[in-house]
Amino acid sequence: MVTTGAVLLTNRQIGDVNRSRVLRTFCDHGPLSRADLARLANVPRATIGTIVQGLLDDGLLEEIEADRTGRAGKPARPLWFRRDAGLTAGVAFLDGGVEAALVNARGELLARTEVACPTATAPPKALRKAVLAALAAVVPGNGEGLLGIGIAVPGVCDAATGTVVGSGPVPGATGRMLADAVEAAYDLPVLVDNDARAQALGEKWFGEGRGVPTFASVQTGTGLGAGLVLNGLLYRGDDGMTGELGHTCVDVDGEPCPCGLRGCWETIATLRWLRREAARLGLPGAESFAARALVALSTEDSAALDLLERYADNLAVGLANLVQLLKPSRLLLHGDVVDGGEVLRGLIEERVRARCLGHVRDDVVVSFSSLDQDAGLLGAAGLVLSETFTLAV
Ligand SMILES: [Zn+2]
Repeated sequence: MVTTGAVLLTNRQIGDVNRSRVLRTFCDHGPLSRADLARLANVPRATIGTIVQGLLDDGLLEEIEADRTGRAGKPARPLWFRRDAGLTAGVAFLDGGVEAALVNARGELLARTEVACPTATAPPKALRKAVLAALAAVVPGNGEGLLGIGIAVPGVCDAATGTVVGSGPVPGATGRMLADAVEAAYDLPVLVDNDARAQALGEKWFGEGRGVPTFASVQTGTGLGAGLVLNGLLYRGDDGMTGELGHTCVDVDGEPCPCGLRGCWETIATLRWLRREAARLGLPGAESFAARALVALSTEDSAALDLLERYADNLAVGLANLVQLLKPSRLLLHGDVVDGGEVLRGLIEERVRARCLGHVRDDVVVSFSSLDQDAGLLGAAGLVLSETFTLAV
């Protein structure tokens, strides 16, 4: 049945509770020795040997080279997913194209492609064609051996029904058109969700959210959005209408927001605001300003330094609200701010702490995502892994 050489995690394979717990523990923590695995999965040491041997025999796991960094003696060889285990395909949308990737359970992109498409103006038919062309370029055969296909859409999505409720950046994706088209082309589960929420799952399975029970993944740049992982599960709310952090009010007398409300966080902490302020201050290159240019200019220009500090503080306003409400262990930032490097990260963290109550202040950790330009695709793949492992555990 498997013609691609891929290894499928069938229901039989993950049906056993201890076995499922072991697989989930690998996803949560990365490569592990047998001893660490037994401890973290809370499975008796005597049982671990049998489970691990079964997973090795089935070709799901393999022993990899030990990380010798900072350790004396001969370390145990950790176990990790085989390179061809747990395959999924992910689809994400760019300004001028559709990208797709074949991703394994390690979070490695085994194949990747981008199909040019004017996503902001493309009608549904053109969008469907681009998505199917991108998938055809990375999915081997008819998709035999894959766990499923995830689609991350910048918009409001009802993941339970696979419906895009509405999308400003990709209006042609509205409805169930994408899920229907991909389901018709591949006999696989198809998961559709909002891109900020998918990014949170990318962090959970493959990034710095690994093993962190409660964290927020926040998109920055042209818009502000959040994906929340609470106690190990992505929070979607009743109908998927969550994560609109950018439209929480931070200034009751603030300026109108394109959404129709007033004083939204997005009116003071997006690139639109940054570029407008840079132009007002007469900074060079203001119309295309972004975090990288601002940080570079701030070392020699006091007006740029002042703007950098205001940008960090404005970002901190919304992040601090999130911390006060949910106290996530970590704030993982995506998008434009990542290019601002340690200077901007440190500033944002400092300002978030300054805006939080004393008893939560010291625990605030702001990190920049290391998934970088793969965040959308890994998030889309994470949608499938979450479905698989949540059902299995
Ligand atoms: Zn708004």
